[in-house]
Amino acid sequence: MDFDTDVVVVGAGPCGLAAAIAIERAGWRALVFDASCVVSSIAGYPTYLTFFSTAERIEIGGMPFVVATEKPTRRDALAYYREVVERHGLIVRQYERVEQVERTGDGFLVHSRPRGREARPTTARAIVVATGYFDSPNYLGVPGEDLPHVTHRYREGHEAFMRDALVVGGKNSAAEAALDLYRSGARVTMVYHGDGLSPSVKSWVAPDLQNRITEGHIGTRWRSRVVAIEPSEVVLETPHGTERLPADHVYLLTGYTPEHELLRRLGASIDPETGIPVHDPATMETDVRGVFIAGVISAGNDANKVFIENGRGHGELIARRLTAMWRDPASHEAHAGR
Ligand code: NAP
Repeated sequence: MDFDTDVVVVGAGPCGLAAAIAIERAGWRALVFDASCVVSSIAGYPTYLTFFSTAERIEIGGMPFVVATEKPTRRDALAYYREVVERHGLIVRQYERVEQVERTGDGFLVHSRPRGREARPTTARAIVVATGYFDSPNYLGVPGEDLPHVTHRYREGHEAFMRDALVVGGKNSAAEAALDLYRSGARVTMVYHGDGLSPSVKSWVAPDLQNRITEGHIGTRWRSRVVAIEPSEVVLETPHGTERLPADHVYLLTGYTPEHELLRRLGASIDPETGIPVHDPATMETDVRGVFIAGVISAGNDANKVFIENGRGHGELIARRLTAMWRDPASHEAHAGR
């Protein structure tokens, strides 16, 4: 059978793009789909974010990422990944959501829908799911979470100038947002179920935040939880009982969990304990032959274990496996029982 492409990569994040490059370098055709733009998770980061990683740790496809500063900014990274796509001539179908993937005889039929248009089919011999985790935030599940002044993503503090801002969470996004809001003239309170700031807050961020807290410029409610959100207040459960706090802007920076729906529909198993898709770490192939994972999705519920820097190499493992499977029939047969 003739296929439209050898491999469909679902997700144009850094790890999906790195996978497409590795697959093409191995001599196979790759077609990348994304429901949004290229590296949309980075586009959705706080506007003025500086990465914790140095530039060389997030470069992909061997293309140097050089910045004049110690660490790249969000804007540097967006420019870099756009350039990677252009230089490698990757075909990325942006704003085209993969709605369903079906197994056909010896391959897959991908149904995708370009934004505002009819769905269209694409056939492929293998699928790489590299959908990351930023599309599925951890919801609190409290009343009012869907109100318009509540967000699971932090962009910048200007909107909260001279207003009451509540930040929920105790790790790096919450810490950086609290500082940025404070420096943008907002009245900030952090709400966290832990006893104090999480030890995971980076060593160069924590003292700055701790000093602002000690000075009383950023308020805290430790060992506390939000139980309801109202248009201009939040209701908290604190060690001292229920408390209402004014809140014009509510930032729920509670992390993310990868979405497994596509993999499940393909028949791939997900470990119920860890949330990790069952896969061979040497090849990144799931327990459905020809279906691979790349990037953060391989980390399961503890998504903070896989980042760009350790997910960008998954594509090479996949490419090696594809070459063995398609060029070496013995290996293919050995796997056929899976
Ligand atoms: P995160 O590390 O997963 O932290 C989420 C926080 O929300 C944790 O404090 C967690 O509590 C809390 N939380 C989770 N579910 C909750 C719930 N239902 N109710 C209340 N609190 C809840 O997420 P993140 O801070 O957004 O960081 C995500 C990734 O981005 C990390 O890898 C981080 O290092 C990275 N990051 C990078 C930069 C940068 O490069 N500049 C900046 C920020 C973040 P526990 O503490 O109990 O787990």
